[in-house]
Amino acid sequence: MKAWMLVAGCSLAGALAPTAFAGEPAQWPGPAFPEFKSAAQVRQACDTGLKGAGLRLRQLEKEPASPGWIGRYDEFYSWVEDVHGPIEFIRNVHPDPRVRDAAEACELRWQDFLTGVGQNPRLYQAARDSVAADDIYHEALRLTLEGFEDSGVGLSPPDRAKAKRLVNRIGELGQKFDMNVRDGTTRLAFTPEELAGVPEQVLKGARRGAKGRLLLGLDYPTYFPVMEHAQNAATRERMWRAKMNEGGTPNLKLLAEITRLRRDYAKLFGFDSYADFVLRRRMARNIGNAQHFLGEVRQAVNEGERRDLAELREAKARHLGLPLDKVSLQRWDVAFYTERLRKERFSVDQESFRPYFPPQESLRFVMRIAETMFGIRYTPVPARLWHPDAQAFAISDAASGQPIAGLLVDLYPRDGKYGHAAVWSYRSGSQRADRLPQAALVVNFDRKGLTLEELDTLLHEFGHSLHATLSKTRYALNAGTNTQLDFVEAPSQMLEDWVFDRGVLQLFAQVCPSCTPVPDELIEKARAAREFTKGSLTARQHLYASFDLALHGPDAPEPMALWRRMEGETPLGYVPGTMFPAAFSHVAGGYGSGYYGYLWSLVVAMDLRTAFSANRLDAAVGRRYRDTVLSQGGQRPPGELVRDFLGRETSPKAFFDYLAK
Ligand SMILES: [Zn+2]
Repeated sequence: MKAWMLVAGCSLAGALAPTAFAGEPAQWPGPAFPEFKSAAQVRQACDTGLKGAGLRLRQLEKEPASPGWIGRYDEFYSWVEDVHGPIEFIRNVHPDPRVRDAAEACELRWQDFLTGVGQNPRLYQAARDSVAADDIYHEALRLTLEGFEDSGVGLSPPDRAKAKRLVNRIGELGQKFDMNVRDGTTRLAFTPEELAGVPEQVLKGARRGAKGRLLLGLDYPTYFPVMEHAQNAATRERMWRAKMNEGGTPNLKLLAEITRLRRDYAKLFGFDSYADFVLRRRMARNIGNAQHFLGEVRQAVNEGERRDLAELREAKARHLGLPLDKVSLQRWDVAFYTERLRKERFSVDQESFRPYFPPQESLRFVMRIAETMFGIRYTPVPARLWHPDAQAFAISDAASGQPIAGLLVDLYPRDGKYGHAAVWSYRSGSQRADRLPQAALVVNFDRKGLTLEELDTLLHEFGHSLHATLSKTRYALNAGTNTQLDFVEAPSQMLEDWVFDRGVLQLFAQVCPSCTPVPDELIEKARAAREFTKGSLTARQHLYASFDLALHGPDAPEPMALWRRMEGETPLGYVPGTMFPAAFSHVAGGYGSGYYGYLWSLVVAMDLRTAFSANRLDAAVGRRYRDTVLSQGGQRPPGELVRDFLGRETSPKAFFDYLAK
C-alpha cells in the first residue's frame, strides 16, 4: 500500500515571524506529534497501536459492502496512520539510538500487520461488491482493490503465505540496508595541507585526531565542499572512494537478495520481472515505455555529456600545466573542475551564496514563496519535538484564517539522522473526515548558510510538503503524495527553477530585512552556470534509472556485476574498488524499479512550469495550480490533473528543448 511509504526531508526571530491572525494564537492543527522520550515509550505506543488496529480490523471485517464501505475503510486507514506514521518517521530522525532501534523493530511488526490487511479476503470481497457512487469514490475503490490484489489476496493460500513472507523479508532487508548507510561512522583524517582550498568554515567545527589531523565525515555539508574545493586530487579521491563504499559489501549482499526476492514476488503474480509488475500501475504503464523514454533522454544528452567532459578535461590540463594528452579526467575530478570552470567562466562560486542564505531565513523564504503563490500562511507553533532543532509550523488560509495543515521541519545534520533530504507525509488529510494533513520535512544544511544549489534542494523538498499539506481530497487514502510514483516528483521538481528568478528572490528581503540581498548578477551567473554540465548531470540520472530498471528485469542480475558493466560503458568508466549500489537507498527501498520516475516527472515538471513563464509568483495561476493539481492528490489520475491545469495534454517539448539548448 503506497500510502504507508516514504515519499519519496531554533525558533524564529519574533520580528521575522508572520503575524498570526488578529487575536488568534497559532495552533497546531490536529493531534500533537508524540514526544517519544524513551525506547520503552515507543514499544508501548507500538503495542497499543497494533492492538487497537487489530480490534478495528475485526470491526471492519463485519462491515458489509455498501456505498459507505470505502469511507469505513478510509477511517481504519487513517486510524492506523495516526498510530503508525509517527513511529515510522521517528526511526529516521530521533537522536537516541535506542529509540530508533525500538522504532525499527516496531516498523517490522507494522509491516506484518499491514501485509495481512492487504491480504484480507473479507475486506477484499466487501470492496469488490461495493458500488461506487461517483468518480472519486470509484478511483479510491479502484486503487484500494489494486492494493489488495498486489498484496496477494487473490493467490492460493500457500502463495499468499509466501507473498507475505517475501514482503516481510524484503522490508527487513531494506531496513538493514538503510541502517548500514545511516549509522555509518566513517571519518577520514587529513592534515590541514591536504585540505588546501576547502572553505575554512567547513573545517572549523571538525574534530581533531592524532597529530592535529582533521577528522571529516561523509555528511553532505562536509562531503560536497571537499569534492568541489580540495586542491589535492589524492584528498578528493580518498573522500570520493569512501563515499562510494558507504554501505559496504554487506549492503551489496542485501541488495542482491532484495532484488531476487522482488522477482520471486512478481512471479507469484505471473510476471517475469518486478519492473513489469510495478510499472503496470504507473503513468509509464510498462517497462517498454519507460525504456523507450530513457532511450530518448540518452540520445538528447549524448552530445552535451561529451562536450562537458571534454571541457572539464581541458580545465584539468590548464590547472596542472600539462599537455592535454597527458591528462585523464577521473570521477573525483568532476565536481572540482566543474566548480573551477564555473568560477572561471561564470565567476560564480556556490560557497559565495552562503552569507546571503542563512538556514532559518531560507526556510522562511520558501514559506513566503508558497504564501505568495497559494494564499496561505505559515506560523511557528511552540512544540516539544524529538530534538531542539526541530520546529513546528501551522499552515492556514490567508484570507479566512482557517487552519489547513501542520508542518514539522528538521534542518541540520547530526549523528544517526537520515542523511539526505525527504518529506514524510505521516498524516494524510481527508475532507470527508475533517482531518487536516501533517508532514515532516528533513534536510541537512550547514548552519552557516545555504548555497544556491541547497536552496534549490530545500525548494524541492518543500514542494513535496506542499503536495502533502495542500491536499484536499475526500479520502485520506488518496491524499497528497499518495499518487503515482512517476508523478510524485513533478510538483517538487517544478519549484527547483524558482531560485533562479530575481523576482522570487526579492521575497528574501521580506523575511529577512537585515540580510544583504543576493546581487542580481550573481544569480544571472549561477543561472548560466547551471546550464553548463546539464548534459553530464542528466546522463548520470539516466544511468541510475537504467540501472534500476535492469536490476529489476527478468534475470534479476547481480547488482555489482550489472553496475560495473553499465557504469563501465559511460565515458568516465567504472573505478575498481567502488560500490555505488551499496548506498543506493532509493533502489533498496520504495523507489525500486521507480527511479526513472525522477526523469519522467521532470518532463511533467517542466511542462507545468510553462504556465508560470510570465510570472512564477502569479497568485491566480498559483491558485489554479493548487486547486487543479496539488489539492487533488491521487483521487484522479495525474494525466487528467495536468490536463485540467494546462488546458491541454502534457507534452515533453519543454524538457527536450531544455536538453537541446
Ligand atoms: Zn523528491
